[in-house]
Amino acid sequence: MSDKALPESLTLEQFESAVAELREILGQDRVYTDDINELRAYRDVYATTKDELHMPSAAIAPESVEEIQKILAVARKYVVPLWTISTGKNFAYGGPAPRKAGYVVLDLKRMNRIIEVNEKYGYAVVEPGVSYFDLYNYLQAKKSKLWIDPAAPGWGSVLGNLTEHGAGYTPYGDHFLMNCGMQVVLADGSVVETGMGSASTSNTAHLHKYGHGPAVEGLFTQSNFGIVTKIGIWLMPEPPGYRPYMVTFPKEEDLYQITEVVAPLRLNMLIPNAATTVGLIWDACQRVTKKQYYLGKGPAPPSALKKIAEDLNIGMWNFYGALYGPPPLMDNNWKILEEAFRSIPGAKFYFEGDRPDDPAWKYRAQLMQGIPNMAEFSIMNWVGSGAHIDFAPRSPATGEDAMKQFTTIRDRAHEYGFDYIGEFLVGWRELLDVFMLVFDRTDDEERQRAHECFGKLIEDHAKLGYGEYRAHLDFMDQIAATYSWNDGALWKMHHRIKDALDPQGVLSPGKMGIWPESLRK
Ligand code: ADP
Repeated sequence: MSDKALPESLTLEQFESAVAELREILGQDRVYTDDINELRAYRDVYATTKDELHMPSAAIAPESVEEIQKILAVARKYVVPLWTISTGKNFAYGGPAPRKAGYVVLDLKRMNRIIEVNEKYGYAVVEPGVSYFDLYNYLQAKKSKLWIDPAAPGWGSVLGNLTEHGAGYTPYGDHFLMNCGMQVVLADGSVVETGMGSASTSNTAHLHKYGHGPAVEGLFTQSNFGIVTKIGIWLMPEPPGYRPYMVTFPKEEDLYQITEVVAPLRLNMLIPNAATTVGLIWDACQRVTKKQYYLGKGPAPPSALKKIAEDLNIGMWNFYGALYGPPPLMDNNWKILEEAFRSIPGAKFYFEGDRPDDPAWKYRAQLMQGIPNMAEFSIMNWVGSGAHIDFAPRSPATGEDAMKQFTTIRDRAHEYGFDYIGEFLVGWRELLDVFMLVFDRTDDEERQRAHECFGKLIEDHAKLGYGEYRAHLDFMDQIAATYSWNDGALWKMHHRIKDALDPQGVLSPGKMGIWPESLRK
């Protein structure tokens, strides 16, 4: 017990009293304190820092809102910092691990009811523990004609991903945009329904987002202002037709033109889903590992990348898109899209049936159709015992910005000995680059290097005016500090809200760089 991480606010005696009270609420089998047999499951296995920095002192697994309210009473009494997770699969950004050692993980995966699916209006109401696989399987069993929009790994929580501003690959891919109605437990134990759901007689809680007064759902995403216990999420009705396609491009510089071509098509919705341009290595990891092409140190050289492209019949960039709708509509849209892509020299086209043995095609075609899978984890095999943290900046959707993001990240990654493994998504109006910084998690020196590289990338992008949309635990404060306009006015406001709603800081202190007054530096 002596080496155990403890909350900074507590003595061992106080911690043990708190645990005893939590056991009274949850029973023996839903309070976990054994570091080796229980709490190791709450590590961030992909951390670039040492496990000890994020080792929880305990984890607790409530099954209802009433239990959460009782837990909060204990947390307030002893000032125990709770760290809320849903399914805890947010790997690349910290997984189930808390921001700081000693926090108690509030693990909501046992709250996993699918409360409602409304076939007519196309929505579901789910609790935090419902994964994409759960919801998909449920809809399949009911022979529902509604699609889900999974994040790339299907084991994640529908609610957890939404609260993190996560994205998927169907036209409903902006998850928070598809949120309608939220239930939140505040630090003082009060329970709030947002939007129309707050009208006692409402029958539109999941049909209309705003209700009367301020729309507050955003306050509970990427924040620590409350515990989200239920969400409404809109689901896309199965369209009358679906045709995935892939267009490959041979040169790195093609990213400029791809982005110029795709952005207006996305803006006017001829491309209705997250238009994704996938880099060579990201795609290749479905079939090959680095060692097969390069045994030296540092990033794989251009000659190796060229050979991979030839062997796998893929491009330096690989665009995945899909047509949705009645066949005549798809036929017409395709004419416009084909002409646009053909304006880029070297573009090659592939459709259903053209790549029967290509798992990269298969999982992309599934994701754009709302079928969850876990294929993307193949990327971890690139370097053996692979791990990754993700760097995710947003810029305007122009060719110039795409090349600037790409070359800045690639050059920094190469400088630190890492490969560029990335994809670009054109959103409604912006460009998102997801760079997977993949490193060998068994090599301490490499982990340290990955950590330093990541910090540099944040600095580089702040200078270029590109903010990150999501942050790993270890980089939340650094990224928050880049949102500094008008003397950091936004984070000052966040802090004021935190102080009003959770003055003791019992809810996820430090999430996104938001701290209660007592812990602010
Ligand atoms: P997923 O399993 O979908 O990847 P997680 O459960 O790991 O998502 O949650 C990701 C992050 O989102 C957590 O670290 C936490 O900050 C936040 N989060 C998750 N669930 C909730 C919730 N119910 N209420 C508030 N914040 C949450």
